Amino acid sequence: PVPVLTIDGPSGSGKGTISRQVAEHLGWRLLDSGALYRAVGYAAGAAGLDLSDAEAVTRCAQTTKIRFQPSADGSDTRILVNGHDATDELRTETAGAAASAIASIAPVRQALVELQLGFRKAPGLVADGRDMGTVIFPDAPFKVFLTASAAERAKRRYKQLKEKGLNVTLASLQREIEARDHRDASRAVAPLRPAPEAVLVDTTGMDIDQVVAKVLTVVQP
Ligand code: C5P
Repeated sequence: PVPVLTIDGPSGSGKGTISRQVAEHLGWRLLDSGALYRAVGYAAGAAGLDLSDAEAVTRCAQTTKIRFQPSADGSDTRILVNGHDATDELRTETAGAAASAIASIAPVRQALVELQLGFRKAPGLVADGRDMGTVIFPDAPFKVFLTASAAERAKRRYKQLKEKGLNVTLASLQREIEARDHRDASRAVAPLRPAPEAVLVDTTGMDIDQVVAKVLTVVQP
């Protein structure tokens, strides 16, 4: 079977950046599963749906067209939601909160399973998310769980958003991150937890190169 490296963990643990660099290094494909939940939350919001209306949001998850479109030089991937380039909107905390809300609806998660399994293609896949190692790719031969303190994660996110010119405060980000952690860990459906066999990597105080090197040792000891 095609090898999969699952990289799960809370928001701001560096999963996005680490997964992208590790995938590049291995020459493997990348699945950004959080983007799928963000895209559904975004599409539901754009359609004026009540995000707690499980039936309506599930229909939305089943019908929303989500496409990852790499730029010509491969340096940037745009995300098209029903044909509209929503990349920038999907990165906002509003989109993250909407994603977290709709991700607690079991049939919404079910609607995204096939799409996620389809990313498993030769020569390999790096799957970034919350339940990659526990639910979507339980047979993956390589599993990592990234963590970092909430304060450190808020600081990283703050820096990212500032670079994009977005106006946020560190305190509000940390509060949002803690609230989202709590929701993600305590929800009945696919609560965030490491697969028993996952290698735990606490990235607090580590820089990106160090984390990438550490994660690569899981695949290439
Ligand atoms: O990773 P990202 O911050 O983009 O994910 C946004 C939200 O989507 C998370 O807070 C989580 O609630 C949800 N999610 C999920 N399962 C995944 C990926 C993301 O429930 N595999």
